[in-house]
Amino acid sequence: MIDLKRNSKKEPIKATGIRARESSSYKPNQTTDFKISRGRFSNFLTCPRCFYLDRVKGLDPPGTPGWTLNETTDLLLKKEFDHCRETQTAHRLFAPNGLGHIVPFNHPEMDNWRDSLHHGLILKYKDTNIILTGGVDDIWQDTNTQQLIIVDYKSQAKNARVDKQDYLEDPYHDGYKIQMDFYAYLLKGMGFNVHPCSYFLVCNAKRDDNGFHKTMNFDEYLVPYNWNSDWIEEKVDEMITLMNQHKIPEPNKCCKNCAYSDQYAKAVHPEGINQGESIQRSFFS
Ligand code: SF4
Repeated sequence: MIDLKRNSKKEPIKATGIRARESSSYKPNQTTDFKISRGRFSNFLTCPRCFYLDRVKGLDPPGTPGWTLNETTDLLLKKEFDHCRETQTAHRLFAPNGLGHIVPFNHPEMDNWRDSLHHGLILKYKDTNIILTGGVDDIWQDTNTQQLIIVDYKSQAKNARVDKQDYLEDPYHDGYKIQMDFYAYLLKGMGFNVHPCSYFLVCNAKRDDNGFHKTMNFDEYLVPYNWNSDWIEEKVDEMITLMNQHKIPEPNKCCKNCAYSDQYAKAVHPEGINQGESIQRSFFS
């Protein structure tokens, strides 16, 4: 996709490919605190090279367009759940799903925990200088056990009904489960008693309605997911080791962006490529 860099007046400006703010990059073996968000950690899991180029080398990757329709369902759900939070009552979805004993968790930090850009759940990782963060969509509470339930809102538009097992087994949703595992790890680390079951609140737009008529209708599903955070520390340790090294790791060979860059390098620099080396590597190193 084509992504033009623009200033605050939305005027196109020269793109450098490097972030301007030096403090947003990690220097190997630095001792001052450095934040790693859930999204960056997911990037590390998908491609250590891209993570390294971004967080350590300070490269400024092309952006993606905002998901404004999805954000709108999130925003409207937030209003509904905040009303129940204030009144400490069960949301309309709870009783039909056998969750009549659940209420949205009322905590003074809730707005901060939901602010993924500036705050989120925050946990200093062991005795390192790495601060892990993650913005949750919502947290509910089991009024019987007082345990906290992590919730993520998901919007989609698929023809078929949502099958809960298929939803969790879909390889495209692996990242969603990682997201839940990571939030559970943070919340537990912050000292909270976390319920073993989290929920995806899936809003599926109905594509078989007979017209738009200024309204898009959705079916709603609560998909339970038993999170598992046992694997997180091993991966965070690997991530920190990587951040403290100077060698750029290998790319993910399935990545279409790198494949595109490879072809780009061949097309634009047909004589500048050392045939003995990976074109992809020479392009990015
Ligand atoms: S393979 Fe290349 S473009 Fe793709 S995620 Fe990794 S470094 Fe980034």
